[in-house]
This record gives sequence, structure tokens and C-alpha cells, in this order.
Amino acid sequence: MKRIYLDYAATTPTHPEVLKAMLPYFTEVFGNPSSIYSYGQEAKGAIGEAMVQVAELIGARDEEIIFTSGGTEADNFAIKGMAFAKENKENHVITSSIEHHAVIETCKFLERKGFRVTYLPVDEYGLVDPGDVKKAITNKTILISVMHANNEVGTIEPIAEIGKIAKEAGICLHTDAVQTVGHIPVDVNELGVDLLSISAHKLYGPKGIGALYIRKGTKLVPFMHGGEQERRRRAGTENVPGIVGFGRAAELARQEMSEEAERLAYLRDKLIKGILERIDHTNLNGHPSSRLSNNVNVSVDFVEGESMLLNLDLEGICASTGSACSSSSLEPSYVLLAMGLSHEQAHGSLRLTLGKWTTEEEIEQVLDVLPGIVAKLRAMSPLSENRK
Ligand code: PLP
Repeated sequence: MKRIYLDYAATTPTHPEVLKAMLPYFTEVFGNPSSIYSYGQEAKGAIGEAMVQVAELIGARDEEIIFTSGGTEADNFAIKGMAFAKENKENHVITSSIEHHAVIETCKFLERKGFRVTYLPVDEYGLVDPGDVKKAITNKTILISVMHANNEVGTIEPIAEIGKIAKEAGICLHTDAVQTVGHIPVDVNELGVDLLSISAHKLYGPKGIGALYIRKGTKLVPFMHGGEQERRRRAGTENVPGIVGFGRAAELARQEMSEEAERLAYLRDKLIKGILERIDHTNLNGHPSSRLSNNVNVSVDFVEGESMLLNLDLEGICASTGSACSSSSLEPSYVLLAMGLSHEQAHGSLRLTLGKWTTEEEIEQVLDVLPGIVAKLRAMSPLSENRK
């Protein structure tokens, strides 16, 4: 059976060009970048090139890029690094209630250490109100962390507006841009951010590599101690093949992003329209226009998201009910609950995220099989008894 992969927000396949760029760094150029002989220096040079490639994708300077093990580490580094750089544990952090676990759990950790954290609400579309950010600022606020786009519902947040507020108040702004970098234009200066997290495996790069953009002059406490790699900000021998792959993925994204975004938005809209028209009692989750071009998230009343996933899987279709991290748990999505959905609606959510290898035929196939799956599940569901 031919598989249809519609979970690109969870991870993307590594681009063949990326793999090709990485391979020599496992074999011929295997040296340690800290070694002074030519093998090492060649590897070091490749890291430098990747820093430029990643920096160019986000309008940063190459020396402002620190490679990490992925988006989770970048988020941890940004938040803990800033919190511990300011000695006073009375300090205050502002974030939103729909952040990825990598941010939410890090903030909860800080709360256990005595920091105060404000989790801002969102509206029915998942948007943070910049006015709420402004109101939450106190003289103890040291960091604002609001994601650039939500991984479950695809809503793009007003970061540039929040950036202006943060700048006026002289407070550091972090954004988790794991779902946006490589997919929509991201410019650290236009957004007005001081810290920005990226993950390579969301933009056709390898897993286990990411980056934190750190604006020049921003002081963070490193949380990996050891050697002097990454200009003493993150110790440990660099993941050279991963970094090279990340750099190549960033370069490809820069070339292909705008055309790809347009193609995906067309397929996304076809899929959304098709689902809402062909299946009754369905609603689109997330913002109708301030939305990632590859994200479809719908609530299908009277069915469980997990049952839809299993039935789609039997048809060879890979989908999700929310973020990959929570797909093994039966808790309803905290993101959808924060947007005001009921537990039942949140339980019946389905996320389909499109990507480079998604075709129109695949979208049509999903639209052909999904109504039948929903009808079958509703026929068996006790929840359907409430149906009008
Ligand atoms: N932040 C967001 C918004 C994400 O979607 C993800 C991954 O799902 C992460 C952070 C974590 O990134 P990584 O898988 O590279 O640790």
C-alpha cells in the first residue's frame, strides 16, 4: 500500500540533497573540529559555512547562531539561560498557554525554582493579544517567550507587535520558531526578537540538530559545561554531519520557500474546504488566515481523534491529533482547550500537515476515505446519540 504522509509538522523526511551534503562528514571528513590538523579544520570550516547558511535564512549574523541538539534544547537554553543569567529568583517570565512542551515544561521547572511565570491566554483562534503581554509586564519581568506559530493549529502569532512592546520595556524576547523557519519568511530584526529557536528536522534537515539565535549582546548562562566549543556557549564536540545537513536544508529552504508555500496553501485550502463540505459537524481549528500554509486542524464532533488516526493508518495515511509528543497520551490537547474548545471537541481533533512531497492526488484520496471513516465511527459511537 502506498503511504500518504501528512504529519510534516511532527517531522520531515531528510531532503536527498541534505543527505548527500552530510555523507562525507561521516567518512572522509570525520575530524574533530577542535583539532588543528587539516581534517579538523575542514570540519570546522564546514560548521562556519553552515552558520552562515542558517543565519542568512533568518536575517542574522553568523556569529549569533549556536547549534544545539534541536528545538527542545534551544528552548531550554533560551529560557533557563536567561533566567539564571539574572541572579534574582524572584524574577518573572511571560509566556503563552499554548507553547510547545519544551517551553511550558521549562517554565514549570523555573516555577519550582521560585520564579514567577505568567501563562497568557489565547483567543478562539489561538492568538495571543499583544495588549495582554504589555499588561503582564512588571518591574521583575526578565523574559517574554511566545511562539512564532503553533505546532498544533498553525496559528501565526503577532511576534513583531510583541517585539515592539518588549523593546520599549527593555525586556528580552524569545520566540520558538521551530514551525516557521524554512516555511515562512523569518527575520529576527523585523520580528524584534533577541532569542529564536530552530529545529532542522522540521525543514527537511536531520533530527537531533537545531539552533538558538542569540542577538549580539544578549547574556545567557550556558547549561552545557566542558570544552570551549560554540564560542564557550555550548560545550561538546559538534555534530558536524548534522550541522552540515542543517546548513544545506536552510539553503534549500531559502531557495524554495515562497513557491512551496503557495503550492501548499492551495492544497491546504482544498483539504479544509473538502473536509468541511463533505463531513457535517466539523470545524476548523486555528486562525483562518494567519495560519501556516501546510496546517489543517479540524474538530470532528462525536468521534475520538485516536480512532480516526488508527483508521486512517489502515488506509496508509499518517496523521496526528496534536503534537507528536502528546499523541501517545489520551489527554485532550491543552492548546485546543486554551482556545475554548470543549473536552469532546478537543478529543475529536485531527491534524493533517502537508509538505514537499504532498500531491493533489493524495489530498483527493484523503477526501475520498475520511468521510467513510467518520461515518463508520459515528455509527459505533455513543457520543453520536447527542447528535441533532
Ligand atoms: N517547539 C515546537 C513548536 C515544536 O513543534 C517542536 C517539535 O515538535 C519542538 C519545539 C521541539 O523540537 P525538537 O523535536 O527539535 O526537540
